[in-house]
Amino acid sequence: MLKLQNIQTYYGNIQALKDVTIEIKEGEIVALIGANGAGKTTTLMSICGITPPRSGEILLDGDSLKGVSADKIVQRGIVQVPEGRRIFPDLTVLENLEMGAFLRTNKSLIQQDLNYVMTLFPILESRRHQLGGTLSGGEQQMLAISRALMARPRVLLLDEPSLGLAPLIIKQIFEIIRKINKESNTTIFLVEQNANQALKLADRGYVMENGRITLVDSADKLLANDDVRKAYLGM
Ligand code: ATP
Repeated sequence: MLKLQNIQTYYGNIQALKDVTIEIKEGEIVALIGANGAGKTTTLMSICGITPPRSGEILLDGDSLKGVSADKIVQRGIVQVPEGRRIFPDLTVLENLEMGAFLRTNKSLIQQDLNYVMTLFPILESRRHQLGGTLSGGEQQMLAISRALMARPRVLLLDEPSLGLAPLIIKQIFEIIRKINKESNTTIFLVEQNANQALKLADRGYVMENGRITLVDSADKLLANDDVRKAYLGM
């Protein structure tokens, strides 16, 4: 469904991604793990059209995304939940969610999706008139995921959803990511430093080091791989 073929992405003269090839099939949960600065966020930014690759191709259902603007990429169904959540702190929960649907016009479908995210995260229903900035970190992550769902993604890109959250909240959020994947067949591409949690959730995983993919395998095999265990699972 989504294919990155030998992409090279630069910040000025600095090459952040080197010949990255990743394939994500429809309905899969795929994790990209790697240390700080490996290039994981840059991979997501490349897919979203924010830092487009200098060479190589990104294909959605076989169609190249070259030259396609970031908002058009959202309209084609690829939606990102950025690192650090970036919700609108001065808007209410409800207004944040409505912002997620700003490219859509069908009011009854928007309402249906609003009801769906409120059932996924009931806490958002009870806080619908509260300002985003006053929510806890975990609630902000829930809001950021929900806001992305309001765009009806086919592929949801998640950048470090566990960052800075307590273990219990991480567990809750990862369970809901699985639920979103199963219930609406949303394809998930997850970037994480928390390799253990990410690989427990994912079907397959990629390991990135210094801008290159160094390993790709089923999540189970990566969890059992000695190098992965030493480098990313602290064993
Ligand atoms: P983290 O988990 O810390 O976000 P990451 O794996 O997501 O790490 P990236 O943020 O993609 O890594 O960074 C990859 C490389 O690109 C790093 O060496 C980083 O310093 C560099 N980089 C990232 N953003 C920029 C930028 N805007 N300008 C210049 N270099 C950048």
